[in-house]
Amino acid sequence: MELLDGKSLSGELIDSVKLEAEKLKPTLAVILVGEHPASMAYVKNKKKACERASIGYREVNLPTDIAQDELIAEVEKLNQDDEVTGFIVQLPLPDSIYVPEVIRSIDPKKDVDGFQAYNLGKMFLSSEFEDLPPATPSGIVKLLDHYDIPIQGKEVVVVGHSNHVGKPISVMMLNRNATVTTCHIHTQDLVSHTKRADILIVAVGKAGLITGDMVKEGVVVVDVGINRNDDGKLCGDVDFDSVSGKASYISPVPGGVGPMTVAALILNTIHAAKRQV
Ligand code: NAP
Repeated sequence: MELLDGKSLSGELIDSVKLEAEKLKPTLAVILVGEHPASMAYVKNKKKACERASIGYREVNLPTDIAQDELIAEVEKLNQDDEVTGFIVQLPLPDSIYVPEVIRSIDPKKDVDGFQAYNLGKMFLSSEFEDLPPATPSGIVKLLDHYDIPIQGKEVVVVGHSNHVGKPISVMMLNRNATVTTCHIHTQDLVSHTKRADILIVAVGKAGLITGDMVKEGVVVVDVGINRNDDGKLCGDVDFDSVSGKASYISPVPGGVGPMTVAALILNTIHAAKRQV
């Protein structure tokens, strides 16, 4: 079994854009609403990555009780700000905010999280049109490519069908000619699907959902989940101990998909800046 080491690949990718960033002088802005502890940790990592890549960074901190139209007004300001070449609205947002409406207000050319319908829609055409793909799925593809893991013709099973991870990674796998099955909470007999997987991508948010008896020998496992176990330690959706004994490759949590998401965001930030020159 080999680990899919997202941490070291992420560092390499971030370092690789430094020279380009020094020429382009992009700025990434992050809108952070409230003080959600996990969001604050993710934002800190994004800031650190910008510093490492020589990308300008700006944070817009807003109160939890902000009204939806006020939040959209902040998005509009960044849409108009020529210094900001890309920005994201850190999710989750408070329950009082309707997320799709906020995402819809982001200028697609600055949408470096790739959540805007225009960018998601382009992705459906083919891999050539994945200009600003959502960061987590994009990071997963880069991780698989780095380890020369073939995708074409493989059985790829995705567990989770969220708009930001499960659905777009399913499309990106289909774009690369995999046979894709997307499972979710209503899937009957999950194990009958996971057992067929050559590549199993799990993005649910439930520690220990996938156990060794649910996978076949040699499977490649990408664990997207971020959870805390009973001891308060970070863990994924996959029971690492039982699954790693059967897997040919497995991404650890932490150190797998998380850092790759940050690297993909940095690459999207460079790409968006290039298109605004
Ligand atoms: P989400 O929006 O909550 O989606 C979870 C998905 O899992 C939904 O499609 C849900 O189906 C499905 N699901 C729930 N219980 C299930 C079950 N027992 N069996 C099969 N499917 C089930 O979450 P997300 O944003 O995709 O994130 C998923 C996990 O990945 C979370 O732990 C999150 O923290 C993590 N994450 C990590 C990164 C990273 O960079 N590493 C990035 C993004 C997310 P229904 O919608 O039908 O309930």
